[in-house]
Order: sequence, then C-alpha cells, then structure tokens
Amino acid sequence: MSQADSYFAGLDIGGTSVKAVLVDATAEQIGPLVEVRSQVKDGYESTFGQLENALDQLAAAAGIKRSRIGGIGLDVPAPSSNGVIWGRANLADDWVGTDIRGRLSERLGVPVFMTNDGNAAAVGEYAMRKYHTSSLMLVAPGTGLGGGLVMPGGRVYEGVNGLALEVGHVSVPFREDDGSLPACSCGLTGCSEAWVSLMALRRRVGLELAKPQWADHPLNQGDTMVEEKAYRLREFAEAGDELAGSIFKQQGFILGFMIADLVRVFDPGLVVIGGGLAETSFRDQYMAWVEEGFADRAWPVYRFSPVEPDQQTTRFEWATGGDAAAAIGMAYAARELFS
Ligand SMILES: [Zn+2]
Repeated sequence: MSQADSYFAGLDIGGTSVKAVLVDATAEQIGPLVEVRSQVKDGYESTFGQLENALDQLAAAAGIKRSRIGGIGLDVPAPSSNGVIWGRANLADDWVGTDIRGRLSERLGVPVFMTNDGNAAAVGEYAMRKYHTSSLMLVAPGTGLGGGLVMPGGRVYEGVNGLALEVGHVSVPFREDDGSLPACSCGLTGCSEAWVSLMALRRRVGLELAKPQWADHPLNQGDTMVEEKAYRLREFAEAGDELAGSIFKQQGFILGFMIADLVRVFDPGLVVIGGGLAETSFRDQYMAWVEEGFADRAWPVYRFSPVEPDQQTTRFEWATGGDAAAAIGMAYAARELFS
C-alpha cells in the first residue's frame, strides 16, 4: 500500500464518548463523525476496546478496509507525555501511567500521535482555517478552562513534557467581594479557571443569589441545586436576565484580561474562543466583554498595527468545529505526521 492510498483517523476520548473522524491523504474528511460510548470513569480497559470499535465504524462508513488507515491521532482529557497518561484529570485512576499510545500502535500496527484535548481542539480549529491563518491560540471555557497553541507552520506547541498551555491555571488579579482568592480544582487559588468555567459559574451564582438584591430572582425560588442553577444561567442570559448577564460579563472580562497576558507571551495573531458559549444567542455580547477585558490589559500594539492602524494584530473568533474539533484536529495531525 502506498501512502497516497492511506487514510488517517482522529480519535477524541472524552468523558462520555469517543468521537472519531477519518481523512484521506489530501486531508479531506471522508464519511461522518462517528461517536461511541467511552465510559472513561469505568476504567481504562473498557474505553480502550471502544477505540477499535470506533475505527471499525469509520472504515465501514467510508467503505474501506480498516487496514488502509495508515496513522492515528489520539487525544485524552488529561496531561500526558510521550503517549503515557501523567495525571488523572477527567479519567479514572487506572489510566494514570498507561502507555495508551504505545499499546494502540502495537495492537493496530500503525503509528499513533497523542496529545491532550485542548491541543487537539486547537489543531482542529487550525485545520479548518488552514488557508486563513498561520497560527492560532485556542482558549476554551467549559467545565474547566482549556487551551492550545498552534505555531506558524501548523505544529502544536506541547512543551518539553507535554504540559504547556495550561491556560486555566495562570493566576489572575481578581478577588471575591470579601477579598479572598477563589479555590481552583487544581488545588491552587486565584487561577483563571476559578473565574472562567462551569465550576466558576457554580460558585458565582451561589454567592450572587445570597445577596439581598437577588432575593426575588427566579433562581432563588424552589430548592434547585446549585449545579442546576449554574447550568440554567445560560438560558437566563439568553433571555436578557440581569444577574446571568452580570456573571457572564465578569467571566468574559477576566477571560480577555488573561488572554492579553498570553498574547504578550505567544503573539498568536488569532485567538479562538471554544467551548459551548459559541452556541449561545448572546455570544456576540460575550465576545465584546472578552475584547473589553483584553483592551484593559493589552498594549495598543497587540490590538492594532502602529504602521497600518486599520490592521488588527490580534483577532478574536469563535470556534467553528464544535464537538468535532478535537477529532478533526487529530486526524489532520496524523495525516501531517504520518503521510
Ligand atoms: Zn488551577
């Protein structure tokens, strides 16, 4: 088989499903996005078996034999280095220390590239814009706050140990009303993720609803759990609710403020905001808050060229790949590396 006849698969292991995409030697996607249950919390073995299931479904949908898949890109929701999982993150304990890349490569007889989910989504967004940008940084508020950086030329920047771009855990100079720094899921305090994430929404909505001014707010009626309240904030914001708007405004501003420091380090030219907010009806307003926070912290040169004042030096865009971005990115990376 020549490499020109090869196909390349991207596998994105998430908390509830494995998403899979196939591309051909020209990087064109072939067939649909395939999704199988992952059940990563059940442990390593059950999800590992599902990877082959996903590949079989990809091959069947494309009408090819699985043996024509010449390389695989794989991403996991956890820190990893050289194919070995280094931390638990959103996985069960028995994933830690597992050489999932080596094992998959040996089992299938093809090379496998592996990285984390933030990096994978960044490559996916890059792949979908490959003729329109030379590099990009992805920042994705979700349950946590992830990120990734694609350098000019298309390579993802993983750092020496695969630990780079943990954008959710840089410190930001914001405090609660009582002067305290909020605790982060990582054990530190004052991280950006403690302000910009679903976790942050839960804390903020609880603190705000305790204030007298929101005593009559609909979210203060009944015995709704704080998780449910945080989840419903999005629909309230979409309906123009003042409380929900103020919480998202604070998140957007702090996100933009943090991005200004990251841009000062990486100068990516394009910042892509990922996560579910891209699907909301108030996304334009949210992006305006992000740019407001950015403008508060960034030097003018990071916003407009001093030589051509109409030319933006940092652009902001919403992610376009949705749930499929990471799988697309990994198929694209496998094709780049192994064709
Ligand atoms: Zn943290």
